[in-house]
Amino acid sequence: MRIVLLSIICLWVTVSGCATQEASEKAEKKEVRQYVETDTGRWLIHDVNRPAPPVITPGQPGKAPSDAIVLFDGTDLSQWTDTKGDPTKWIMGDGYMECVKGSGYIQSKRKFGSCQLHVEFATPATVKGDGQGRGNSGVFLMANYEVQVLDSYNNKTYPDGQCAALYGRAVPLVNACRRPGEWQSYDVVFHRPIFKGKKVVRKPTFTVFHNGVLVQDHVELQGGTDWRGPHAISDFKPHEDRLPISLQDHGNPVRYRNIWVRELAD
Ligand code: MG
Repeated sequence: MRIVLLSIICLWVTVSGCATQEASEKAEKKEVRQYVETDTGRWLIHDVNRPAPPVITPGQPGKAPSDAIVLFDGTDLSQWTDTKGDPTKWIMGDGYMECVKGSGYIQSKRKFGSCQLHVEFATPATVKGDGQGRGNSGVFLMANYEVQVLDSYNNKTYPDGQCAALYGRAVPLVNACRRPGEWQSYDVVFHRPIFKGKKVVRKPTFTVFHNGVLVQDHVELQGGTDWRGPHAISDFKPHEDRLPISLQDHGNPVRYRNIWVRELAD
């Protein structure tokens, strides 16, 4: 009888000991995970009082979301100039703008740093030329970093210069090109470089969707996207924190429409 009693006491001590330990571990975990530090203050996890993000109306095909800066809605070129700040020689069509050979790049009057950018483009329906000579243009972030525009529908070229390449730096994950003349889209998330003096202390990054397909997955650029030749060494050239978005004149009548930007924090 005494043995049975002792066993019961031992079991109770063990079980209650385990329970106490479990409870204190839980409390410890709870204490560690209870709060998060954020830009808007210190909040409990699942805290209903934490500020919710703003409500916006998302875009429809052909329409920008309500909080975007619309740079081109297909009606006029009032927000664009050539690279000298003079009126551009690019022409307007029915709801689109078109590059005119020899007119030079077109650039936004407003300047941007880190941003989300939506652009729609169409390479010429009538196919002329090949390789880099076919439907070539480009979307430049900060007038410096090119997401290549090219007719890469059955058109062989060097992969780091095909459509949706970060020119000369990163090959797209897939070729998501539509046929020549069809409207296509880029959705870009860009974080600008940060310079200290002549040195880059944070390199720019790109995430790009081409026709809704992920083609550049948070790629960090290792230098500029200018044409370099096989032996050239090119690094970053320091520049301002905000610069225009520009579109390339590479001699082909590429069309653009529905261009909008949402600025992002650094
Ligand atoms: Mg180009």
